[in-house]
Amino acid sequence: MDKKSELEKTKRIPPLPVEEGTESWQDALEALERDEVLTMREIEQREKLRAQKKAAKKRRRRRRIITLWFLVISGCMIGAILLFWVLKKTAPVVVDYAQETANEWKEEITEAQSETEEAQGELKIWDMPEIDRQFITPNRYSRPGEPLLHVDNVFVHYTANPGTSAAQTRSYFNNQAVTHERSVSAHFVIGMEGEIIQCIPLDEIAYAVQKHNYNSISIECCYDSEDGSFRQETYDSLTRLLAWLVCKYELPIDAVQRHSDTCYKKCPKYYAEHDDKWNALKFDVLEYIKEHGSASVPDSYFGE
Ligand SMILES: [Zn+2]
Repeated sequence: MDKKSELEKTKRIPPLPVEEGTESWQDALEALERDEVLTMREIEQREKLRAQKKAAKKRRRRRRIITLWFLVISGCMIGAILLFWVLKKTAPVVVDYAQETANEWKEEITEAQSETEEAQGELKIWDMPEIDRQFITPNRYSRPGEPLLHVDNVFVHYTANPGTSAAQTRSYFNNQAVTHERSVSAHFVIGMEGEIIQCIPLDEIAYAVQKHNYNSISIECCYDSEDGSFRQETYDSLTRLLAWLVCKYELPIDAVQRHSDTCYKKCPKYYAEHDDKWNALKFDVLEYIKEHGSASVPDSYFGE
């Protein structure tokens, strides 16, 4: 074989790449199968081209991903803005609607409640007034703990000590346990601000009205006027408390009495001296019951 034909042969036989499995090796193999004979340069060019294509493909894919992400994020942002706008526009309407529905329900419930109350003859007056229960310590001078089995009367008193508060009056009763000064107490004390303090439970006697301790409830009222009249706040709480007690024990209004109605003591001073004011107080109690009760209040509540 001469030198020229040998060179020709070398040129036409694709040189095998270094490692089996690489692309240039595959190219060579495929070319052999297709009966093509590639030069080393052609193989390298193809490889280079493929690498360029691959890089371009990779770049395109990256660009697509970035674009996609951009679209998704923008979409989300626009969606959020739109949602916010829509909510802002429609929220008041929704709230109004909810409020309206709630109001309707409230009205219906109130209506049903009043109907039930009427049907059952229930009285709002039965609701206990706001009472601060501060029972005094049991002791033989002001809280003997003896049972109050029956209530025929409710007695109204005054403290006979202008400017003394309800809390001080309660303390005075409570201190009898220590001072042993007098046998004195009352179930309730009404202060000058209209506060009601309960000193003794309603199933126990108080020491307030000599002959009637075992069948009555007593209310002590604070005052700060010279003539002994009660402040409006005290008067209003007294009216409310009397109305409740009258209904609770089913008493006629005349069962509400002044301490002075049972003895010589001018207690409560102003109302003992002014019968018209006392009658006006009883009238106000009845008015309260009529206003806060219902038509089913027994006649006995109103006396003769
Ligand atoms: Zn009295």
